[in-house]
Amino acid sequence: MALTGIQILKMLPKKNCGECNIPTCLAFAMKVAAGQAEIAECPYVSDEVKEQIGEASAPPIRTVKIGGGEHLFTTGGETCQYRHEKRFENPTGIAVLVTTAMDDAAVAGRLERFNSLRYERVGVMLKADLVAVKDANNDQASLVALTKKVLEKCPDAKLILLGDSAANLAAAAKECGERKPLLYGATMANADDFAKAAQDCGCPVGVKGKNVDDTVEITEKLLAAGLKDLVIDTGARTVKAAFEDNVLARRAAVKSKFKPLGFATITFPCEIADDPLLESMVASVLIAKYAGIVVLSDLQGETLFPLLLERLNIFTDPQRPMVVQEDVYPINGPGENAPVVITCNFSLTYFIVSGEIEGSKVPSWLLIKDTEGLSVLTAWAAGKFGADMIAQFMKKSGIMDKVKHRELIIPGYLASMKGELEEELPEWKITIGPREAGHLPAFLKEWKPSA
Ligand code: SF4
Repeated sequence: MALTGIQILKMLPKKNCGECNIPTCLAFAMKVAAGQAEIAECPYVSDEVKEQIGEASAPPIRTVKIGGGEHLFTTGGETCQYRHEKRFENPTGIAVLVTTAMDDAAVAGRLERFNSLRYERVGVMLKADLVAVKDANNDQASLVALTKKVLEKCPDAKLILLGDSAANLAAAAKECGERKPLLYGATMANADDFAKAAQDCGCPVGVKGKNVDDTVEITEKLLAAGLKDLVIDTGARTVKAAFEDNVLARRAAVKSKFKPLGFATITFPCEIADDPLLESMVASVLIAKYAGIVVLSDLQGETLFPLLLERLNIFTDPQRPMVVQEDVYPINGPGENAPVVITCNFSLTYFIVSGEIEGSKVPSWLLIKDTEGLSVLTAWAAGKFGADMIAQFMKKSGIMDKVKHRELIIPGYLASMKGELEEELPEWKITIGPREAGHLPAFLKEWKPSA
């Protein structure tokens, strides 16, 4: 049963010291209750209280970490059935499969595409997360060699080791150091071996069930052996069955608090479809419906990019607009006589405006003011894009050192602010830009710095 913020507060030391980066114990307790902060962030609570609160406030889908140090992939931690109820927490991991049965060229191609297929969007780097290394021939030496190759060639990849032999996976896991892999392949028959290997290596375990009932039996066995960090595969190998099992597992965990299914799922579009396009479509269904990890047979830009965008959309917080960082963005290599344009940090605005400037080929400085993700007019109406705030941002942004002229182009919708801005920035000429971003290229091409 989840604890309320007040119940958690009663167990805190109430120093109100702010060392947890939250100003008061009450605010911290509320965040812990809402699953937005970890109780361990307060350095003053005893281990006993940590365990008590940690268990009670744990999300129904356990949070599991794969990797370590800078290269950490987190899965699970989900608290709701539907995105609009709160938000989904940890984006589905996208993995590419390499096996010991593949020739060197096939492996090298996949690893090269893992490293190179990366896209920056809304200030976020979109890319695959994991490499799944399969022991296809039950051969420890070749699995260890392939694991070493992946570690070396893909320095930021998190690893999944797949196979039936826990001993082989454990030997390969030892090569991974702090990049603790997921050891996938625990069945009823080998669960004891996987439990031992996972405890020795400190790695999470992937359950390989034949169906939902079998999966439950295996997780119960591993839980009884003292393991906590599990990822589950119900054995479904059709898109219909995988979809249904993912929904069933999420519902059982979130609505019925059924612990044996309270884990992120690992799914295998690579074993569900032969055709790359179909495989990608299967993956898109499973990303939308609760997969913790999807394992793909290969990565290609035309199929990976849509999956990355889908994932980005599903795992954004529906209650918060997407934002870009407040900053000065140089576009087309601007110099000291380039125009200076300002707008808000609503990501859609940023991408439309920056795209138009880029397309105009006019070297420009784009100033992005933090408006908490609100669009220009909404931010102005909400008091987050006022003349005083723009002036303050201009002074601290460093733009005054980057340009010789003193002319600022503001969005056409903020024309009424011109006078106020001239008072706040007396050295600057305020020019009213177009209302629509689509008119910016023509405007910028005509623009000349004022004397
Ligand atoms: Fe309270 Fe602990 Fe946070 Fe200090 S660190 S404010 S004691 S919760």
